[in-house]
Amino acid sequence: MNDLYPWLTDLWQEWQASLQADRFPNASLVVASQGMGVEQLVDNFSRAVMCQNYPAESCGFCHSCQLMESNSHPDFHVIRPEKEGKTSTVEQIRQCNRLAQESSQLSGSRLFVIYPVEAMNESAANALLKTLEEPSASCLFLLVTHRSHSLLPTITSRCQQWHLTAPESQSVATWLSAQSVGDVPAYAAHINGNAPLATLEFVKQDKVSRYLELESQFIALCQQQGDVVKLAKELASHPDESLNWLWYLLSDGQKVHYGLQTPAFTPGAAQVAELVDYQRLYSQAQELLKLIEQLRLHSGLNAELLILDWLFKFNGEICS
Ligand SMILES: [Zn+2]
Repeated sequence: MNDLYPWLTDLWQEWQASLQADRFPNASLVVASQGMGVEQLVDNFSRAVMCQNYPAESCGFCHSCQLMESNSHPDFHVIRPEKEGKTSTVEQIRQCNRLAQESSQLSGSRLFVIYPVEAMNESAANALLKTLEEPSASCLFLLVTHRSHSLLPTITSRCQQWHLTAPESQSVATWLSAQSVGDVPAYAAHINGNAPLATLEFVKQDKVSRYLELESQFIALCQQQGDVVKLAKELASHPDESLNWLWYLLSDGQKVHYGLQTPAFTPGAAQVAELVDYQRLYSQAQELLKLIEQLRLHSGLNAELLILDWLFKFNGEICS
């Protein structure tokens, strides 16, 4: 068994109790944001389920445990997109359905981990539904998602849901300070949704300076001094993360208008609030969310052009 990350232990103990009592549901959905290390939890769970000696942990030496160790257990199947960012295909799900109909190779449990579920297209999701509707007794399905709201309700309603909640900013900071990465500003955890591993990567890859650079360019824009084309180009080079950061800046700015203040706020929040009134921050944050979602769903779009368009509108609203 792995030494679990501290924020995973509550849910793991709950799972263990459920396995111990032999009432772990046949179909489960675990909801966890990216950068929470849910893979570690799934790994512990898989080894425990497959072990022939213990119900809720792996012994490490039985035949099953050894097969798990060498990644060759015939009753353990992980379904994930063949390439990152692509979808799992209906053929992958059909194959998984066929395997679920067969009997266990080692006369124990069979486990299917589907990872991440939102990467299934609609026909794959429909194919999976059939199997979830009539699960055979020794068959477990563990579905992992980072975005539960984008799943078909027909899928979620057939699964027991487990939520992996992010720790408080302060606990993330404490954990990070033990990872010898030097000083970590409190807002680093905040703009990464308090997901500890995402924050760790953020700090390690020196995205702190990248963030500060984008923040100062954005504030210059609010002062009608920025180079909007340059900013759009930079935001478009990693739109998924940089637009998210900006969203936190706008959202913190709104809170400043309400007189709120926490050490985890983005450093430029107060200045943004000074330059832009609440109503505009609110409406532009909504527009930004729409843009983020649009870019996420349609990978073929011209991100730079759409971001430029949003920045012009943002600037226009401030000027008007
Ligand atoms: Zn074992």
